Amino acid sequence: MYTSEPVQYTSKASINTTNRILVVEDEELIRETIALALEGEGYVAMAVADGRAALECLANSESNSGENTFDLVVLDLMLPQINGLDICRLLRYQGNPIPILILSAKGSETDRVLGLEVGADDYLTKPFSMRELVARCRALLRRQRLSVTPEPILEYKDITMYPQECRVLVRGEEVNLSPKEFRLLELFMSYTRRVWSREQLLDRVWGPDFVGDSKTVDVHIRWLREKLEQDPSRPEYIVTIRGFGYRFG
Ligand code: CA
Repeated sequence: MYTSEPVQYTSKASINTTNRILVVEDEELIRETIALALEGEGYVAMAVADGRAALECLANSESNSGENTFDLVVLDLMLPQINGLDICRLLRYQGNPIPILILSAKGSETDRVLGLEVGADDYLTKPFSMRELVARCRALLRRQRLSVTPEPILEYKDITMYPQECRVLVRGEEVNLSPKEFRLLELFMSYTRRVWSREQLLDRVWGPDFVGDSKTVDVHIRWLREKLEQDPSRPEYIVTIRGFGYRFG
């Protein structure tokens, strides 16, 4: 029996002063034990029992930035509705940088690697001690605090991108890009000279749930070239690598 209603474990002393942690775990006993252990350390813990409820909590938290946002997610892998790996993947695809600590009954190297590959920050195998869990959470929160630095400006030849402002200058002039074009260019500029297949670009820019074919990528590349290149028929920035895909630079 699980509930999709989030349960907040409040301890008066900790409100306003500490980090908020979302615990996503379908096993009631583990969920409550974790939440209480975190509360005992002075954190504010919110607990939900399935993947959908977790995503709802995080979406709400994103939209009222400042108050009620979460600073960390403790995420079980095997969950009803949407599993932990998919949640991770989705959050990262949406650009949500929240630290994620994965919990799993599985302990194989493959699961660990997979968890980290889809964007989790740390991984704990069941059974674990609450001391260990709290220590990992504390370490992730500390790391998060240290890494809050402004996003860098991306520059390549005549193109300058300000990711946080969603602005791009080409030869000193501002150009209007659609959100997909922007994401595509941001990815390219973050990894200059890397060759991307159409499937990789679809996965990274459109997301794993996109239904459609790789022609979509070609169409967006053509639009992007028209906005960036001096001569779109002889591109200097976005180069076609025959048989493989595209490369920036
Ligand atoms: Ca589970």
